[in-house]
Amino acid sequence: MKFDSDVLVIGSGIAGLSYALKAARFGTVHVVTKNRQDEGATRYAQGGIASVFSKSDSFASHINDTEVAGAGLCHRNIVELTVQEGPARVQELVDLGVAFDKDTTSGEYDLTIEGGHEHRRVFHSRDFTGEAIETALVAAVSKHPNIRLFENHAAVDLLTNVRPQKLRRSDGMRCQGAYVLNSTSGAIHVFSARVTVLATGGAGKVYLYTSNPDVATGDGIAMAYRAGARVANLEFMQFHPTCMYHPRAKSFLISEALRGEGGELIDASGAAFMQKYHSMGSCAPRDIVARAIDSEIKRQGADCVYLDITPKRSGHTAAALKERFPNIYAKCREYGIDLTTEPIPVVPAAHYMCGGVLTDEHGESTIENLFAIGETACTGLHGANRLASNSLLEGAVFAHRAALRTEERLRRMKPKLDLKIYEALPDWDSGKAVPMEERINIAHTWRELRTTMWNYVGIVRTNRRLEKARTRLDYISHEVQEYYWSYLLNPELIELRNLVTVADLIVRCALARKESRGLHANLDTPYLDDTYFKRDTIV
Ligand SMILES: Cc1cc2nc3c(=O)[nH]c(=O)nc-3n(C[C@H](O)[C@H](O)[C@H](O)COP(=O)(O)OP(=O)(O)OC[C@H]3O[C@@H](n4cnc5c(N)ncnc54)[C@H](O)[C@@H]3O)c2cc1C
Repeated sequence: MKFDSDVLVIGSGIAGLSYALKAARFGTVHVVTKNRQDEGATRYAQGGIASVFSKSDSFASHINDTEVAGAGLCHRNIVELTVQEGPARVQELVDLGVAFDKDTTSGEYDLTIEGGHEHRRVFHSRDFTGEAIETALVAAVSKHPNIRLFENHAAVDLLTNVRPQKLRRSDGMRCQGAYVLNSTSGAIHVFSARVTVLATGGAGKVYLYTSNPDVATGDGIAMAYRAGARVANLEFMQFHPTCMYHPRAKSFLISEALRGEGGELIDASGAAFMQKYHSMGSCAPRDIVARAIDSEIKRQGADCVYLDITPKRSGHTAAALKERFPNIYAKCREYGIDLTTEPIPVVPAAHYMCGGVLTDEHGESTIENLFAIGETACTGLHGANRLASNSLLEGAVFAHRAALRTEERLRRMKPKLDLKIYEALPDWDSGKAVPMEERINIAHTWRELRTTMWNYVGIVRTNRRLEKARTRLDYISHEVQEYYWSYLLNPELIELRNLVTVADLIVRCALARKESRGLHANLDTPYLDDTYFKRDTIV
């Protein structure tokens, strides 16, 4: 079966849905999403969305904080435009019905502060910010007559006018849509479109421990790369310093906002240790906090450290803590921890992919008619490290910019000619593939891959560990290729194939950067080398 639209959006988080709403003003939009419509990292964002609002704050300060975190690799023009367009995008979310918290007495927005920010500028809805945003977007999209959303539809590969050449040059290449698996029926359909948008989120599932939801398997990055697009800066995976450490807790994040509100990192003996590592103490930028925890855990042979936000330490009453952090409070209670009376056990975990599909200031990739927005893109905003709460902002800003550029593109295209091309798009051919008998193989390979990445390509790297990872990934990659050609596709196999590609790209980028910068720390090259490496790693 073939589905045709002006625009195909792959992914339904803040980036995909914000874009879809805007593109639907001038064209027909299909959104495919591989799980439920509201599933994705957006829904789990707790802390909030950063944007300048308070009179004591300024664009210059937000720009500076973003650049300091980015360790010399932020693209100045991208940082400026993102910060400056932020307030308008936040206002649009408010207009859609997102109720950011306000101070009950002054009626002003209750802006919070997070690690690396010099000012209070983070809009939040208690600690359910992402859920509030996603709910509002889903409601608006479901009412729109020009948008059709397909749940449980996983994009497999992009359709392009020519096969990617060996040299991986994407010049002259055009995207024409994607092959999409209907996970319920098992059928693979052609979704043709004049413009295709990758909004598939991050790739945290490439690591054993992650704060990311299961859908974060780097699909957009892998599909774009296979199609011939340039990808960049994949060595910069941000590890969130504080995920709950509990045998039953799956990827539960303890938001940075707790540290912003006075929470302190302590070891098992109760001693605070962050001042040893940075003058901002527990509110230091994430990479520094994550490495400090990693180092304390290794030095002390401990399983975890603790985050103490009890009234004695933070100065907030127990009632205020429950009111401000209802989600985290409830989740901790599920695991028998009362954050108002005891510290929370925490470990670092893979959290945010700063690199991704290389795009320009309009979200356009190096392949014509292919855009990438949100976490799947590398716009130049984050550089070598992301400032907290800048990613929801980036998703909203680049959805808007990509929609504006799409409108221009569609106006210039000749629909009749395009239609001819689309009608000629080949159906998916499964060849001699047979149904997979033992899906357990996929689970085993996946675990091997994620363990390899955790052990050898984690928070602190060495050349030897990276080489080891490369050797193991080569083997895993061959195995997965064999599955791919032999068996009928299923959602797990699609994800595993993408994860192997992304893991390989992360290792290649990490090996190429022979210095330590931002989130990439290599013990063999522990210094900053601006002469040779103050630039993006592009593959
Ligand atoms: C626990 C947690 C807390 C966070 N807190 C904050 C915060 O406070 N502030 C902040 O700014 N950022 C935060 N982040 C980061 C932020 O949430 C994400 O970067 C952002 O939501 C990404 O939005 P997105 O639209 O790019 O992707 P997502 O919201 O992840 O959406 C990706 C979508 O793509 C779909 N998809 C993926 N692959 C395919 C495929 N092959 N076919 C079809 N669909 C596909 C997924 O199902 C999903 O719908 C947090 C992240 C996590 C995990």
